Amino acid sequence: MDLTFSQEDLLFQQEVRQFLADQLPPHIIAATNNNSSVFLEKDMALEWQAILVKQGWAVPQWPAEHGGCDWSPTQKYIFSRECYLAGAPMLIPLGLLMLAPVIMAFGSEEQKQTYLPKILSGEHYWCQGYSEPGAGSDLAGLKLKAEPSGDDYIVNGSKIWTTHAHLADHIFCLVRTDNSGRPQQGISFLLVDMDSPGVSVTPILTMAGDHEVNQVFFDNVRVPQKNRIGEENKGWHYAKYLLEFERGGGFIGPLIRHELVRLGELIARGHERTAGFDRSGNIARRLARLEIDVKALEITELRILSALSAGGNPGPESSLLKLNSTRLEQEINELSVDVLGYEGFPMNPIEDGSPVRPDFISSVVPRYLNNRAASIFGGSQEVQRNIIAKMVLGL
Ligand SMILES: Cc1cc2nc3c(=O)[nH]c(=O)nc-3n(C[C@H](O)[C@H](O)[C@H](O)COP(=O)(O)OP(=O)(O)OC[C@H]3O[C@@H](n4cnc5c(N)ncnc54)[C@H](O)[C@@H]3O)c2cc1C
Repeated sequence: MDLTFSQEDLLFQQEVRQFLADQLPPHIIAATNNNSSVFLEKDMALEWQAILVKQGWAVPQWPAEHGGCDWSPTQKYIFSRECYLAGAPMLIPLGLLMLAPVIMAFGSEEQKQTYLPKILSGEHYWCQGYSEPGAGSDLAGLKLKAEPSGDDYIVNGSKIWTTHAHLADHIFCLVRTDNSGRPQQGISFLLVDMDSPGVSVTPILTMAGDHEVNQVFFDNVRVPQKNRIGEENKGWHYAKYLLEFERGGGFIGPLIRHELVRLGELIARGHERTAGFDRSGNIARRLARLEIDVKALEITELRILSALSAGGNPGPESSLLKLNSTRLEQEINELSVDVLGYEGFPMNPIEDGSPVRPDFISSVVPRYLNNRAASIFGGSQEVQRNIIAKMVLGL
């Protein structure tokens, strides 16, 4: 693909910049800068989503017929990069970028008409029911049982580590509909209303103190069979398709680029505040290494984006993105904490009880702690290496 910006692209860039200057609210920028969780707070993320929907720019990745943008890969990249550099939050991808491609590819016409507009408008807020106690990396070992009963399934069991289940009104679930063959063969993909009688949610607090993940229990939950995506017992295929989008369907490069810029600012302020800061040049060397690696990630992502724009799906190469973007984000987090030194301690009050730390560093350590989980969620780093070895390198 051609990565040079044409005159048309530069005009587009100006248009995006102007839109962001006019429409991105300062309170959302502030919340994004101080956010240490994996997603921005739901209400604010939906507020930004609504502004983008009004402009017609919420889901550039979707086909234009469903409300996406008819942009070139370069324009999609420019849009994403400008958004992050302006301090816009990532839209919550669970419905928009993970479930929606599955519905588009494998859902019935009725499911497309019912769900896609509600995902786009934010009326439906989804969570992901894949993992179970005893079925994480070994996802095919899942046991959440769905037994046919008339036009419905009766669902029993539980899902765990379910991000934002306490906020979601719908959950997409992998359920066990057959036990007779290989584990992968008896799985179906089901859409469940969280308000259904028998669904309950229990919080799990993370080491950073956040409430993001939950365990979800299903006790004789009645779910219409028409809420199943595609064929019964073929859910494994749809589930893997979704994972490709989870790991490589968004734009992670511009987000990491933005984090690198913020790290650069943190270092510059360190120089201002402490004479002789980084005398050994160690921080400068680590920053240069990160700069090179982020560039390489950006190029890899553009290659995948190019495939997506030609109508393909991200493919197993998305595991490369997940592996490397996670490593880089965590290295940026680590260097940020190293740069802060003792100022990073969570409790650093002065006599009147207010914190000594200036605002711009208050989210650095919580972000570092929260982001340790990135090497586990969406499939652990080791599992991504296995996929790359098998599916990309053919080993
Ligand atoms: C913050 C957070 C949010 C999450 N959100 C969601 C969500 O919204 N929805 C959802 O469904 N799930 C979610 N998950 C679950 C996540 O997908 C699983 O935790 C992950 O797949 C790992 O599964 P596990 O926890 O059972 O660990 P295990 O599978 O038990 O793995 C334990 C360790 O063994 C290693 N390992 C396992 N198998 C292999 C292998 N074959 N080769 C090499 N090493 C291996 C792993 O890499 C890991 O280090 C979330 C997890 C976290 C931490």
